[in-house]
Amino acid sequence: MTNDELIRRDLATVWHPCTQMKDTETMAPIPIRRGEGVWLEDFDGNRYIDAVSSWWVNIFGHANPAINDRIKTQLDTLEHVMLAGFSHEPAVELAERLIAATPAGLTRAFYADNGSAAVEVALKMSFHYWRNTGHGDKTRFINLSNSYHGETLGALAVGDVALYKKTYEPLLLKPLTARGPDCYHREPGVSWAEHSRAVFADMEALLAEHAHETCAVIVEPLLQCAGHMRMYDPVYLELLREACDRYGVHLIADEIATGFGRTGTLFACEQAGEGGISPDFMCVSKGLTAGYLPLSVTLTTEDVYRAFYDDYANMSAFLHSHSYTGNPLACAAALATLDEFERRDQITVNRRLATHMANALAPLAEHPNVAEVRQVGMVAAVELVADKATRTPFDWRERRGLDVYRHALTRGALLRPLGDVIYFMPPYVITPEQIDHLAAVAAEGIERAVST
Ligand SMILES: *Cc1c(COP(=O)(O)O)cnc(C)c1O
Repeated sequence: MTNDELIRRDLATVWHPCTQMKDTETMAPIPIRRGEGVWLEDFDGNRYIDAVSSWWVNIFGHANPAINDRIKTQLDTLEHVMLAGFSHEPAVELAERLIAATPAGLTRAFYADNGSAAVEVALKMSFHYWRNTGHGDKTRFINLSNSYHGETLGALAVGDVALYKKTYEPLLLKPLTARGPDCYHREPGVSWAEHSRAVFADMEALLAEHAHETCAVIVEPLLQCAGHMRMYDPVYLELLREACDRYGVHLIADEIATGFGRTGTLFACEQAGEGGISPDFMCVSKGLTAGYLPLSVTLTTEDVYRAFYDDYANMSAFLHSHSYTGNPLACAAALATLDEFERRDQITVNRRLATHMANALAPLAEHPNVAEVRQVGMVAAVELVADKATRTPFDWRERRGLDVYRHALTRGALLRPLGDVIYFMPPYVITPEQIDHLAAVAAEGIERAVST
């Protein structure tokens, strides 16, 4: 099998996600034969560093021996059983360990099989909680501008990235959108913390006006990934937790992308205030299984759990199910993932890697077409603009970011951008030398992309 052979068969049958299929006429999908560590290898033997962790899921490298072994053992024991009326050891152990690892107060784990589904569960559970407790007038959600929570209709509705959402607007429920704390928009000389704190006034005003009809506020803690890797200060989360309590509104932390060490702590919520904040719902997926298998968990509190716990005839149970909810193979992958964090002391290792990444990318900040290099933990982003002083973006139709992507592929790196934002979100098994290579490749790619 060669690249060309597989591409031909692919294009005859497969409809790819997040892709204008006509683009494949000039940019065919790259058929991957195997993976190992940070490397992906195609059918012609070309190798690429997976600098975006295969859409932010792969944290311990491809074909990780420890995770492979755990899944293989599970495969010979039990591949799947439904979780309604039945249970299994991986689901129980994973619930126990996630409850121990996540912020205090989260005591119940509800399984689903992808990130969007975990968000749907949180939205439905919050609404249903208020209904069960005599607050049926609470039907709305507050989100942040530039947020992303998935692409099923409910999750899409509480997001705010027009690229994914605009077309489907007539089908969607209408959230109340607060100005997000995205620090790219801060005035010169203003710190991240000052900006994030000042912007909170908008959230405060929305809550003051709409708390009576609002179920929950949903946010991505610290980092809006799909919204062009925009970042904000933890003080915003501290203020938000306090305000949600004061107004009697749930807080949903969507840690689907930020969870499992990505922002420098195991969960981003840990960085807010003294010792972190506890949301009422926390959604996790992506890194949960280290990029092996689809799985998600919505964690919630005893208070929420109790509001559904009643005699059957009262019809207050939470009914939401997917066929593969809590799949044992996926739970086994997640347990192996948690083991890897402990065995490798990964949070400490990431601190060193993050510092290396900051140093490697720092020179790019001086480039005349780079508005900003920003970073939180193991995510760094380079924002390309047409004019540095005014931060005027390039015309999006010029697709400059794509030029960087194409160049990187010729230099052994998978650097798939978000528009004109080039970002680095590598597996944690990357080496400092590989980080240096990525930085060099990005610098070359940016030079090419802006000089046409
Ligand atoms: C990826 C993502 C989702 C959706 O998860 P899927 O598994 O792709 O459905 C939701 N929220 C955030 C913050 C994400 O990054």
